[in-house]
Amino acid sequence: MRIPIIAGNWKMYKNEAEAFELGAELKKRLEDVVSLKIVLCPPFTALFSVKKAIEGSNLFLGAQNMHWEDQGAYTGEISAKMLMSLGCSFVILGHSERRIHFGETNEMTNKKLKKAIEIGLSPILCVGEKLEQRETEKTEEVVEKQLEGAFEGLKEIEAEKVVIAYEPVWAIGTGKTATPKQANEVHRFIREKLGLLYKDEIAEKVNILYGGSVKPENSNELLSEPDIDGALVGGASLKADSFEKIVRSKLS
Ligand code: PEP
Repeated sequence: MRIPIIAGNWKMYKNEAEAFELGAELKKRLEDVVSLKIVLCPPFTALFSVKKAIEGSNLFLGAQNMHWEDQGAYTGEISAKMLMSLGCSFVILGHSERRIHFGETNEMTNKKLKKAIEIGLSPILCVGEKLEQRETEKTEEVVEKQLEGAFEGLKEIEAEKVVIAYEPVWAIGTGKTATPKQANEVHRFIREKLGLLYKDEIAEKVNILYGGSVKPENSNELLSEPDIDGALVGGASLKADSFEKIVRSKLS
């Protein structure tokens, strides 16, 4: 059975003190929530503070990126081993902002995915189409290519550990949200594709989250769709109130 996941991507927001405060507030507000996994992904510089803030709670710590090597002369990079040693359980990989602003390719995402799994981190792999790709009906083609690239060479036992976040690029930080029907259709497509790449039994184990302007006003409807197993939340995860409401909407 898939345990739903609600993850907050804090992007490049919150200094150390602010991150600690938000982490501590969420720990207090969400201590009764045990039927789903709640993941906080602050910037690298706040991972340690948030780890301290949520210690002893049901909340999980995640990072927003990593390098595929264990160590080396890669100025400015962070390895999966370093994240593990800080107490991370999750890592977001292939986010569209990494792909668009930092040139990350499906090949790079694939190397990161393999390393994250080897080290014991749960990767949250982001896939999704741009606006012009949706408008020209290329959504499935784009998502299929991203999946094939990311899963290249992954064995079944590794593939079932991946969490996928379907994030239409046109819906990220724009206030536009895919309708529950639009999102669910792509989620179903992703699960079917995983069934073809592996087998249905593996596809059924994979959590598929939706991301793109999820907020308390739309989370209930989105999270009630049968193929939407949770959410990756950007903007609305920066405030305890809105993030708590989104988490609770998956419980109702
Ligand atoms: C994200 O950053 O993954 C995201 C979905 O952002 P937002 O919720 O702000 O659209």
